[in-house]
This record gives sequence, C-alpha cells and structure tokens, in this order.
Amino acid sequence: MVTEKITRLRQAIVGSGAAGLTAAIYSARAGLEPLVFEGDLPGGQLTTTTEVENFPGFENGIQGPELMDTLKRQAARFGATFAPRGIESVDFSADRLLLKSDQDSWQAESVIIATGASPRLLGLPSERRFMGRGVSTCATCDAFFYRGKRVAVVGGGDSAMEEVSFIARFASEVALIHRRSEFRASKIMIERVRSNPKIEIIRDSVVEEVLGDDARGVYAVRLKNVKSGQTSERELDGIFMAIGHTPNSQPFAGQVEMDAEGYILTFDGTMTSVPGVFAAGDVVDHRYRQAITAAGMGCRASLDAEKWLAARE
Ligand code: NAP
Repeated sequence: MVTEKITRLRQAIVGSGAAGLTAAIYSARAGLEPLVFEGDLPGGQLTTTTEVENFPGFENGIQGPELMDTLKRQAARFGATFAPRGIESVDFSADRLLLKSDQDSWQAESVIIATGASPRLLGLPSERRFMGRGVSTCATCDAFFYRGKRVAVVGGGDSAMEEVSFIARFASEVALIHRRSEFRASKIMIERVRSNPKIEIIRDSVVEEVLGDDARGVYAVRLKNVKSGQTSERELDGIFMAIGHTPNSQPFAGQVEMDAEGYILTFDGTMTSVPGVFAAGDVVDHRYRQAITAAGMGCRASLDAEKWLAARE
C-alpha cells in the first residue's frame, strides 16, 4: 500500500505578489515559519511592469521586479521559505487544511490565499508581443508615460471609464473603444466620459490587431466595426486593455465562499468562510487593485492568522 506523504506546516502562503510577500514578512517575524508557494508568476503582476512610481518609500521610483525581489529577501531574512511551484487543489473539509501541488501534499495550521488576479486580454499574439511597449493593462501604473501622446482604452465597464478619464489628463488624444453600443458601466461614470471633450468614443468596434515594430513599439491598431464589417487603422502610441480581471481562485473553488465572479469573500477582517484560511490582495479585491493596498491586506491577513492561531492554542 502506498501511503501519501504529507508535510506539516505552521502556515502556507499561496501566492508571492505584494499581498503574499507582505504577509510572509509579518508571519516570519511572528515566528509562524511561513512557506510561500510562489506560483506560475513569482513576484506577481508587478514583475510584468517596468517602473513603479507610486509605491510609497521610493522617491525616484523602482522597477517592479526589483521591488518584488526586495520584498522576497526581506521575508527570507526573517525565516520565510519559498517553494517555486503553485498549489493545484486544496481540501479544507474534515477539519484540516490540505494543499496539493501536482506531486506533493502539505497540511497547514493556517493558510493565506494571495493568488491575485490576472487582467483579461483580448487574446491577440500582437497584444502579448507589445505588452509593456505600448500595450498596458494598468492606467494607474502607466498613464503618466503617455503624457502628450495618442492613446486608446478598450472596454465598456467602470474600469474602462475610470481609466480613460484618468489617461485623458495626460494624453494629447484619447479614444474609448467598445465592442457594443451600450456600456455596462455605471451612469455617472459614462456621463463623465461623455462630457469630456478630449475623449472620442468608438462603439461597436473590436481591435483586430495591434500594429508595431521592435524599434518603435506600438504605432497603430486595426479596428473592425462589428456592424458594418469595415476595418480601419488608427495611429496611436499606446493601448490600454480594461476589459476586466479574472481572480486566480480556481484551486479553491468549492472550498471557500466566493462571489459570482470568483472573488474570495472575507468576513470579519480577512478570514474566509473556512476557519484558519485567510485571503488578501487582488483575489479578494476587485476595486483598488494596487500593490500598496494588496500589501496592506497581506499585513492584515498575517495579523488575523496570528491571532487566530494564538486563540486556538
Ligand atoms: P467589467 O464590468 O466586467 O467590464 C468589462 C468590459 O470589458 C465590458 O464592457 C465588456 O464588454 C468588455 N470586454 C470583456 N471582454 C472583452 C473582449 N474580449 N473584447 C472586448 N471587450 C471585452 O469589468 P471592470 O470594468 O473591470 O469592472 C469590474 C468590477 O469592478 C465591476 O463590478 C465594476 O463596477 C467595479 N469597478 C468599480 C469602479 C468604481 O466604482 N470606481 C471602478 C472600476 C471597477 P461587454 O459589456 O460587451 O460585455
């Protein structure tokens, strides 16, 4: 008979973005000996950006990967350890917190879920090719770099409205491209966009291709009007995808309570519906989605977990 080997842990932190690593710093300092499962994208979304100018404490900005590397080393300094893998599934039934990767299993006394969210993309190869070189998924991070330039935002929800209004403060020319004629965004946000003379609204249109080259990055997009079938090219310097995010909560489906979109629900601070399991960062929060807010939640999750473990003991 083969008996499954299960490694016991005081604390598992799933995810290594701003929330996971901040939780790791606090938990390691509290002696909870966290093991951080780094996942497919060690360091999280910030490792896909270049300059981060709005993380407090860095007067002259810092490169995203460097910031995450610093957080990792800071957590390691206090004894956090790291597993270069993700968690595929969990079993939180039967009064134990079991986590599984493709080969191994762990049983933890407490778990912090900090798996983040992934920005939705259109799925064009050209969009991936020019990511960070004209294609962006975060106006708060990158709008500043488009001062005096021509930009478009794709989407028809609140994020698209918010992003296009924000970018209009910097860009010389800005268009909002939406695939339908109706917007799903809230009335007040739509009104704000409509009344901004700098914003051109392009309805019933999809981006067929992002056009660019290695020297210049993005220089245009090819649009298709879905009603007339006509295609056209629009010259621009940058395009922002604001078509929503998908929370990376799949391994926890059916185990912790989530909303209809898969964001993990928390109660009384950062505790999930399962005692001993906490959640922080973009897998919970679809509203703010900032590195600093995720870091703040990671801190809260660690403090909540520490309190919960102490009460149990
Ligand atoms: P969302 O509401 O899901 O909207 C996504 C938009 O992208 C929709 O207009 C959708 O078009 C479009 N879209 C999706 N896939 C597409 C594709 N493949 N090609 C082209 N267009 C595509 O997402 P969100 O705007 O990020 O908002 C998420 C949640 O956060 C919402 O509950 C929102 O209210 C909230 N939020 C609130 C605020 C605020 O209150 N300040 C700010 C931001 C977000 P269709 O409409 O045709 O489906």
